This record gives sequence, C-alpha cells and structure tokens, in this order.
Amino acid sequence: MTSYDDGNIFAKILRGEIPSLKLYEDDTAIAVMDIMPQSKGHCLVIPKAPSRNLLDADDATLAAVMPIVARLARAVRTAFNADGVRIAQFNEESAGQTVFHLHFHVVPAYEGVSLAP
Ligand code: 5GP
Repeated sequence: MTSYDDGNIFAKILRGEIPSLKLYEDDTAIAVMDIMPQSKGHCLVIPKAPSRNLLDADDATLAAVMPIVARLARAVRTAFNADGVRIAQFNEESAGQTVFHLHFHVVPAYEGVSLAP
C-alpha cells in the first residue's frame, strides 16, 4: 500500500499553512468548505490523524469522526435548506481520490438539481 505523505493539501490546511473556510474544529477533525463544490454547501470533514485514506485509518479515528460527519450533515442540511445529503469518500486514485489525506465529503442534495460535473 502507498504510504502517507504530509505534503498533501489537507495536511497543509491542518497545519495552517494554507487558508480554508473552516466550519468546525475539535481534537479529532476539522470541517471546511470544499474549494470546488459539487453542490451548494459541499464541505469536507478532515480527521487530524495522518491517514492516507480509509484503507490505512485506525478504528479510533473512524469511530471518532463519523459522529462529526453526521452532525455536519444535519447542520448543512438545515443551513442550506437542502432536501438531502450525500456522504462520499474515495480511496486511491483509481477510485477518484485526488487528495491523499483521509476525508469525507458532505454534499447537500436538492430536488431536481444535479451535481456539478
Ligand atoms: P477527493 O477526490 O480526494 O475525494 O476530493 C478532494 C476534494 O478536495 C475535492 O472535492 C476538491 O475540490 C477539494 N480540494 C482540493 N484542494 C482544496 C483546497 O485547497 N481547499 C479546499 N477547501 N478543498 C480542496
């Protein structure tokens, strides 16, 4: 398996080296707005632990982060008046992962509105 490289964009955001629109932070994770949203309110939950993706993440990180994903999903649904919320997560390039630090997409869904290409 490919290893973790701390030069990735989300590691830089976590270290405060590049700016982000931060919605939430605790000891486990941050939540930021996605820079190229697929729908209005698309945001990301990024655990602080240095995992490349789900395939190398430890159980404690996964157990701690999922309630944050759920809370953010409820919050953006309310804040953006969405009809539903998609949760997405990709592992390795072949699966569509482009930033190699574990993250969860929280993507509000709107009746009759397709995702951005
Ligand atoms: P992936 O395909 O790896 O699951 O998704 C990576 C996500 O990170 C994409 O939705 C992309 O728009 C987002 N992204 C890439 N660079 C940045 C950045 O510098 N800041 C933020 N906030 N999001 C980013």
